Amino acid sequence: MNLLIMGLPGAGKGTQAAKIVEKFGLVHISTGDMFRAAIANQTELGLSAKSYMDKGDLVPDEVTNGIVKERLAQEDIKEKGFLLDGYPRTLDQAEVLTAILKELELQLDAVVNIEIASDKLVERLSGRIINRKTGETFHKVFNPPADYSEEDYYQREDDKPEAVKRRLDVNIAQGQPIIEYYRAKGLVHDIEGDQDIDLVFEAIDKVLSNLK
Ligand code: ADP
Ligand code: AMP
Repeated sequence: MNLLIMGLPGAGKGTQAAKIVEKFGLVHISTGDMFRAAIANQTELGLSAKSYMDKGDLVPDEVTNGIVKERLAQEDIKEKGFLLDGYPRTLDQAEVLTAILKELELQLDAVVNIEIASDKLVERLSGRIINRKTGETFHKVFNPPADYSEEDYYQREDDKPEAVKRRLDVNIAQGQPIIEYYRAKGLVHDIEGDQDIDLVFEAIDKVLSNLK
């Protein structure tokens, strides 16, 4: 099964992606995670991505399309299937992805679109915390980890107020045409994102279990 998960920053893509890949055995490809890993490892890719990410802007399409193509071409994708999270984020990326999939003889089965009003997202993003060791995402209020400590959990640089507003503006402007692009292909499944994490997953699970 080959899937995209879409939604504004904070909609719950990463949270649900972790559950989906665990249940269905897919490879999770998060472009945001790939960029953050590159920054942590101080690679050339990380250096070029960092200035865009810190401001809440998108990394240029040529760079992003390149890393996605490289990852999708690896062996495990054909065996296990993939879940792309945080990509495509521009219409150009969506069109490039269609070409990449064609070239690699892969087919997209569904687009999971997590819907939530943008005024709920600032609260989600400002409380988001990540476990330094496991990379797992939690929320200080909505999904607190049992073992919270300032040492073991960090807040993302771009979840600080200056970048959050810019990220929401950028993603609202770019996101709608992408959903329409996939709606026209009959692939989009809308999921209500403003409910408990487990209920969001139940709704997604129902859709995906019916696809197989
Ligand atoms: P995205 O990957 O779409 O940016 P995340 O999965 O990182 O979003 O979720 C953003 C924040 O909101 C995290 O702190 C997460 O724990 C929290 N969160 C995710 N889903 C829900 C939900 N259904 N209800 C409340 N909080 C949620
Ligand atoms: P995310 O983890 O998905 O919230 O992404 C964090 C940041 O990484 C974004 O604000 C962008 O700067 C960058 N990024 C992630 N995915 C993409 C993408 N598909 N295109 C451009 N930039 C991206």
